[in-house]
Amino acid sequence: MTSPATPVPSSIDAEKALVLFSGGQDSTACLAWALGRFQWVETVAFAYGQRHAVELEARQALRKGIRELGDRWAERLGPDHELDAGVLGHISDTALTREAEITYDDQGLPTTFVPGRNLLFLTLAAALAHRRGIRHLVTGVCETDYSGYPDCRDDTIKALQVTLNLGMAQRLVVHTPLMWLDKAQTWALLEHHGGKALVELTRTESHTCYRGERDQLHPWGYGCGTCPACQLRAEGWQHYQARAGTGTPEGSTHPPPTP
Ligand code: ZN
Repeated sequence: MTSPATPVPSSIDAEKALVLFSGGQDSTACLAWALGRFQWVETVAFAYGQRHAVELEARQALRKGIRELGDRWAERLGPDHELDAGVLGHISDTALTREAEITYDDQGLPTTFVPGRNLLFLTLAAALAHRRGIRHLVTGVCETDYSGYPDCRDDTIKALQVTLNLGMAQRLVVHTPLMWLDKAQTWALLEHHGGKALVELTRTESHTCYRGERDQLHPWGYGCGTCPACQLRAEGWQHYQARAGTGTPEGSTHPPPTP
């Protein structure tokens, strides 16, 4: 029998995770969350002909900066993978994969929506995780402050987890630590896991702008300042600054309690 004084190792802590790491603010927060929870964390990104391919370059600067933030993170951060998902760019006609104005359809969905993108990414990540012996997938999808993409919704991800496990005869767990956080809370999550140094690293090195612009450093980071991604990021930063000192939320894979 285990004495109450004996530390009980959590099985989940000893396991490996694969973070879908695009190089944006959200996936950086997911990487920090995973590094605080799992002993071994690998990263994966997808090249799909995105206009903001600069985000793929931001990833390496972030990984380097994160390694330098502490020995424990440096020990836990495993290899990086970049997969070619260029077929998405061939079959999609969206403002994310070609030079086009960002507009909204009748249902409020922006033309930056790439049909099937997150479904394909998670499926490819699951296949990679299977080969690498990894059980936990971590993705920064969120339906709190988001552009209305249907493949970011909690129901979609839960259904996909079931499908992946049935289709691969595995017991993968898809974690969505940002699902119920707004963008200000995502900045607070970064601070919670990596302090002000991680916030500053994310502010200056992560990339969110759909147009791929990195000419001007705003208080919230680089970007055009007008695309939907920049607007969400800028508003989140402002709210984070306004709420500074009012507590830090922990990421959760469950809906928040009813107030
Ligand atoms: Zn932008």
